[in-house]
Amino acid sequence: MGDGRADPRRQVPRTDALLADPRLAGAATTLGRDRVKAAVRQAQDRARRGEINPEAVRDAALAALPAPAPRAVLNATGVVLHTNLGRAPLSAAAVAALVAAAGHTDVELDLSTGRRARRGRDALAALAAAVPAAGAVHVVNNGAAALVLAATALAAGREIVVSRGELVEIGDGFRLPDLLTSTGARLREVGTTNRTTLADYAAAVGPRTGFVLKVHPSNFQVTGFTSAVPVRQLVTLDVPVVADIGSGLLAPDPLLPDEPDAATTLRAGAALVTASGDKLLGGPQAGLLLGAADLVDQLRRHPLARALRVDKLTLAALAATVVDPATPTRAALHADVGGLRRRTERLRDALAADGCKAEVVPAAAVVGGGGAPGVELDSWALSLPERYAGPLRVGDPPVLGRVVRGRLLLDLRCVPTDADEALRAAVLRVPGHR
Ligand SMILES: *Cc1c(COP(=O)(O)O)cnc(C)c1O
Repeated sequence: MGDGRADPRRQVPRTDALLADPRLAGAATTLGRDRVKAAVRQAQDRARRGEINPEAVRDAALAALPAPAPRAVLNATGVVLHTNLGRAPLSAAAVAALVAAAGHTDVELDLSTGRRARRGRDALAALAAAVPAAGAVHVVNNGAAALVLAATALAAGREIVVSRGELVEIGDGFRLPDLLTSTGARLREVGTTNRTTLADYAAAVGPRTGFVLKVHPSNFQVTGFTSAVPVRQLVTLDVPVVADIGSGLLAPDPLLPDEPDAATTLRAGAALVTASGDKLLGGPQAGLLLGAADLVDQLRRHPLARALRVDKLTLAALAATVVDPATPTRAALHADVGGLRRRTERLRDALAADGCKAEVVPAAAVVGGGGAPGVELDSWALSLPERYAGPLRVGDPPVLGRVVRGRLLLDLRCVPTDADEALRAAVLRVPGHR
């Protein structure tokens, strides 16, 4: 034992001093004080055992803390709606709305009368205002739930007439026919994979028909000798037509002329439109049901509706998204190509200043996530050697790109502009970038 002041073990920072450090204090608000304290104690012990220097205790404690899960990532894939990356990122307005809704809210109370009110009426009113052709609106957990509710309430024990060309697999092994028959409805398949005519539907429609279902082929294309029957012709059959438009566009988007939208589909005569909230609408995961007031009311009152009910956070984010549709999804879709090229060139130049050689190459972005199959959006990408892909994916923040012919392409279309610096720093942290 020598002089106490020279003994590094005596210089281990105190717990209260460490907990007052801004970064550890910040972690304590999100992870809880107990977890941060445990990480601090462990790091102090390591210093006392001489495994790390006393000055390294704070960083060791920080490094030992679990990252919040799920982790935020930078989507440089050029896929606007990436299901594995959580589909649509929320707008700032939607984030603010859901944070505000996290506490007690008036989600189901009319403050002026003190009585119970329609749950989520702000979101419903916003949707009704955005789609005046809808007599009424209801919101459930997701697009699949919207279909399940419609099939259960309108066709259980009866038949859903649907084209063989529209019996699609959504993704991850989930298939629409299985989803629909799980409700007790029977499928009455008509037509063939590539061609279905109005006469095919007419021959199948009868007293057992619950409704005719029109499904938008949102993740594949059939080309060549094809024909399908549009909603405006199906409505001549005198049975309700339910249209699953998938993507959630409320009004037409000239950029995506083949993508159906709720307003046009309802004006064509559909009794009910179902769609997702987190695709082209750019909002939270939700299932939208818009249509004839009596049908929507029947769905809303069905016992199953309670099991598919959405959270107050979803309702808050959805209302904000519909009121102000300037979402990151829309920004990514409509990004100016010249601007993307200049951003990518600036990033290349900034990397070059640090000795990292990248190229700027033309690229093609896609909508993804069940929307506008076959549509390619002109874009630009930063091109790096493929070996950057792994380290960037497990970096902080994780950066996801696309590997094409031995090169890693980073497309800035879906990267927020204020994240360019974080992206540059992430690339420079890849070992041996020079
Ligand atoms: C995406 C999609 C669904 C499923 O919607 P979720 O919100 O993912 O449940 C159903 N039908 C179509 C046509 C779709 O594009």
